[in-house]
Amino acid sequence: MYDAIVIGAGPAGLTAAIYLKRANKNVLVLESKSYGGSIINASKIENYPACPNISGYDLATNLYKQAKELGAVIKFEEVIEINWNKEKKIITNKGEYNTLSLIIATGSTVRKLGFEDKYIGKGVSFCATCDGNFFKGKVVAVIGGGNTAIDDALYLADIAKKVYLIHRRDEFRADKKTIDLLKKKNNIKYVLNSNVVKINGNERVESIDVLSNDKIKTFTIDGLFIAIGQVPNSDIFKHIVKLDEDGYIKGTNNCHTSRTGIFVAGDVRNKKVRQLVTATSDGAIAAIEAINYLNK
Ligand code: NAP
Repeated sequence: MYDAIVIGAGPAGLTAAIYLKRANKNVLVLESKSYGGSIINASKIENYPACPNISGYDLATNLYKQAKELGAVIKFEEVIEINWNKEKKIITNKGEYNTLSLIIATGSTVRKLGFEDKYIGKGVSFCATCDGNFFKGKVVAVIGGGNTAIDDALYLADIAKKVYLIHRRDEFRADKKTIDLLKKKNNIKYVLNSNVVKINGNERVESIDVLSNDKIKTFTIDGLFIAIGQVPNSDIFKHIVKLDEDGYIKGTNNCHTSRTGIFVAGDVRNKKVRQLVTATSDGAIAAIEAINYLNK
């Protein structure tokens, strides 16, 4: 029997595990993929206090090691079912675990266009830092107007011959400082007020059809980087806790969900600001609230 099970080994979940272990609680962290969550792919993080310049990989690895060294048990298993009745049980693809409390920190995954699946790994990518190097000297397109899309375009501009930055509006939502960096690159071409409506190619991506002002224009490209935001990883919890209309788990500012003993932390919680610092903050709050609940 665990005092707490944390689902998700991203910044929120690992921070929760650190706080729980420091309060001498018996903690299991369950993660279906690799530790670190979406931050693991960030080439550079400049907005996390006291870490003016660190890679996402290094920051995630530090967090992972810190939680492990404090004694958190971390298992790479996929949670497939939650029983939250008299007996509180978390069922994974490899086993079953009983717990007294639960912290959901499953984050979010990349949003898809809906017609790209056939080309994933064949010219379509969701991670410029992972796949950018395959497009040395080639022509690529990035879709999106947030920090991820602008970061991707900047990163790819140093590798590719040309980068089309395609956005559905005429202004970007990314930070001004990041947007300003675009001016330094002369191989980024803006394609604004535009939507990619089709990907063409037999084996691999060869071109895309882009709809602008009611007209379709075809762009010949070698690679397409999709950076259009995230969707919450909340599906398996929809019968256990209340979700909002976008699928985020409803949580109070103290990270309580609609179910006693279940807490929510990080990007999967309904909130306005989704940043690394707010994810770790949620992790700490959810853990402290779980500790108070366990000690009652
Ligand atoms: P985001 O900020 O939600 O931006 C998503 C972008 O995709 C928006 O520009 C949106 O357009 C566009 N979009 C959404 N659905 C679309 C669709 N179906 N078709 C075409 N375009 C679509 O997502 P993000 O850039 O992944 O960032 C997520 C969070 O992580 C943000 O809080 C961000 O600040 C943070 N982040 C921080 C850093 C850093 O600090 N270095 C790096 C990356 C991300 P609209 O603008 O028109 O809605």
